[in-house]
Amino acid sequence: MAFFDLVDFDDHEQVVFCSDKETGLKAIIAVHSTKLGAAVGGCRMWDYASDEEALVDVLRLSRGMTYKNAMAGLSMGGGKSVIIGDAKSIKSEALFKAFGRALNGLGGRYISAEDVNITTGDIAIANTETPYVTGTEGKSGNPAPYTALGTYLGVKAAVKHKLRRDDLEGLTVAVQGLGSVGFYLCEHLHKAGAKLVVTDINEDALARAKAEFGAEVVGLNEIYDVDCDIYSPCALGATINDGTIDRIKAKVIAGCANNQLAEPKHDQALVDRGILYAPDYVINAGGIINVSFEEDYCADKATRKVEEIYDTLIDVFTKADQEQKPTGMVADELAREIIARGGK
Ligand code: NAD
Repeated sequence: MAFFDLVDFDDHEQVVFCSDKETGLKAIIAVHSTKLGAAVGGCRMWDYASDEEALVDVLRLSRGMTYKNAMAGLSMGGGKSVIIGDAKSIKSEALFKAFGRALNGLGGRYISAEDVNITTGDIAIANTETPYVTGTEGKSGNPAPYTALGTYLGVKAAVKHKLRRDDLEGLTVAVQGLGSVGFYLCEHLHKAGAKLVVTDINEDALARAKAEFGAEVVGLNEIYDVDCDIYSPCALGATINDGTIDRIKAKVIAGCANNQLAEPKHDQALVDRGILYAPDYVINAGGIINVSFEEDYCADKATRKVEEIYDTLIDVFTKADQEQKPTGMVADELAREIIARGGK
């Protein structure tokens, strides 16, 4: 594989392949940039179809963290890690200890929090081998409720900009994924009077959403055809792609998933279809903002900073209109400007 020629290789500072035969650990840690500080980003556990797929995922996710942290005004660089394997079968204390030792080897250039399939308990085990973890219980804890709060405020900002409304009463939101973030998001949306149409592979989560929020449940592939005002991708990435984009009826796309656009061209394709897209790494920064308060944790301060996501998104949308550019491109340009001048 011509690693340095990969489309998703973006001059990452360091990419480390970690393996520990005894525990079965196979992980990749990608440090995209430390220009604004130590690279911070979550660890994801996923049963990738191939090692190449895992590599592409960690390269894209770590670049996204650099931009996310810059746009959120944090003094942190961007990095991410992936552990390869099925979370249902490979998790063990020994494996997370081995992961902790791998993190320790980077000497603090990368600090790991939670992402998909990684809990605060897993991070606590890694923490027995290294100080280079964050989002720990007793300090900032689980970032998901803050990611959900930021995403909810991002939905409101997008609705304000596109639909000229301050409230969500009676609007239909199609939520894809009722996991750690998606479920909390549904709680906010339900309280705000939105009608929810949901999908997930997890039947229990669907049953809870139906019982607690009166949500309508649709099939995994049907979510793209839902007659809705807002499509909220909250599962995995690349769900806005050549196969789905013409099916989406929403006027707003605003969800917490990372890497929502399958390819950069889909940024403009959404503009062409009159859909306002809230750039993923801007709207989903609530969790990492909360994590940035890890030392001397204060929930009020973290919440106030998460609330800034609303204004940041309004700025992105306004600039996109003024410059006749897609919102994702505008966010990328702003993030690069912030990094170039050494912080917000
Ligand atoms: P999670 O694993 O808790 O939830 C993901 C949910 O998606 C699960 O309920 C899963 O069953 C469901 N799912 C999987 N495949 C699906 C499919 N094909 N269709 C519908 N549902 C499907 O993860 P999470 O922490 O809630 O994160 C969700 C997304 O948000 C991820 O893309 C993650 O990277 C991103 N994100 C999370 C955080 C955070 O604080 N946890 C922060 C920023 C971004």
